[in-house]
Amino acid sequence: MTEERSRSETSKGMHVMSGDQAKKPLLLTNVKPIAFGAGTQEGATDILVTADGRIAEIGPSLSVSQDVTRIDGKGAFISPGWVDLHVHIWHGGTDISIRPSECGLERGVTTLVDAGSAGEANFHGFREYIIEPSRERIKAFLNLGSIGLVACNRVAELRDIRDIDLDRILEVYAENSEHIVGIKVRASHVITGSWGVTPVKLGKKIAKILKVPMMVHVGEPPALYDEVLEILGPGDVVTHCFNGKAGSSIMEDEDLFNLAERCASEGIRLDIGHGGASFSFKVAEAAIGRGLLPFSISTDLHGHSMNFPVWDLATTMSKLLSVGMPFDKVVEAVTHAPASVIKLSMENRLSVGSQAEFTIFDLVDSDLEATDSNGDVSVLNKLFEPRYAVMGADAFAASRYVPRARKLVRHSHGYSYR
Ligand SMILES: [Zn+2]
Repeated sequence: MTEERSRSETSKGMHVMSGDQAKKPLLLTNVKPIAFGAGTQEGATDILVTADGRIAEIGPSLSVSQDVTRIDGKGAFISPGWVDLHVHIWHGGTDISIRPSECGLERGVTTLVDAGSAGEANFHGFREYIIEPSRERIKAFLNLGSIGLVACNRVAELRDIRDIDLDRILEVYAENSEHIVGIKVRASHVITGSWGVTPVKLGKKIAKILKVPMMVHVGEPPALYDEVLEILGPGDVVTHCFNGKAGSSIMEDEDLFNLAERCASEGIRLDIGHGGASFSFKVAEAAIGRGLLPFSISTDLHGHSMNFPVWDLATTMSKLLSVGMPFDKVVEAVTHAPASVIKLSMENRLSVGSQAEFTIFDLVDSDLEATDSNGDVSVLNKLFEPRYAVMGADAFAASRYVPRARKLVRHSHGYSYR
């Protein structure tokens, strides 16, 4: 632990090579490739990336004469860059979102997918102020409700049909199709009152018109998780799949479990979406014990979930590992699986000529106690520890989030989390 601690302390919050400086080639040494598909050479290797971000050479003990930025992987794993399929990063445009930098490269995550923070009425701001300037790749599910999560769970985005403008959704999608990867619907009475499953049906209709997946949040019924699954089709995503809420847990109703299992086998994606209220160790352990694995592992990070209980993607991955999900499946669930949802190619990610985009991480022994959304505690014997995120020729030092007191403060220009 001592070496691990000193490494993360020295690297915390800085990045090794900045995009503003004249770029040098990047040499990654002593890294072990994982999750690059069949035919990947086993064991430690070096990877040389050109100044313009393309992989130039792969092989053990490369001798490089040029002036390069060197990153010693010290035997760590290297995988395609991690993808978090469910975060909230419309910072400043919603009261709940965090900044992309708080859950992105510095946590080992190269692609962030915002799950419906913006609706059609405010997507242009999300694009201009967050998506375009960010260093991370950002994609988004567009909220079915016009206002998105402006004042999350205080001013609900789907109270009745007046909150949905089909024409404008189609227009906003047409203008932003390179950023929008699907439609998001929060199907829970906290948002929809007694409106039931109708918003999910409308969301599905729009998703079919646009030929994109729909992501549905399941939670407090109505709508019932069962009804939501009946509407979804292959390629759609149900997030908060292993929640422990009364009336919405797949472990309290055998019919629902069987339905979820059948839907998963037919191509409906079960996504973790941990969040403040939506991940249960007991449900996850029981489901995985019966062979029902999540398709993707995501955090649902936002201002109310980050400090407690989620922290970051690496800790969420460690939680799934602790309840029996195999290591290689965990890595797949933050790389190939979510990438397929957002149509991000994972082909030839470790081939000469390809753009470099990697996460370098260790799996270390641990006795960390972690908590789920229900307050249950599990000891994590193994921890995913991100070391670097690599985007082109830039390598960013990465580490797990250290929880700290975050409080809602009022200042001269509004409220924000500090
Ligand atoms: Zn969410």
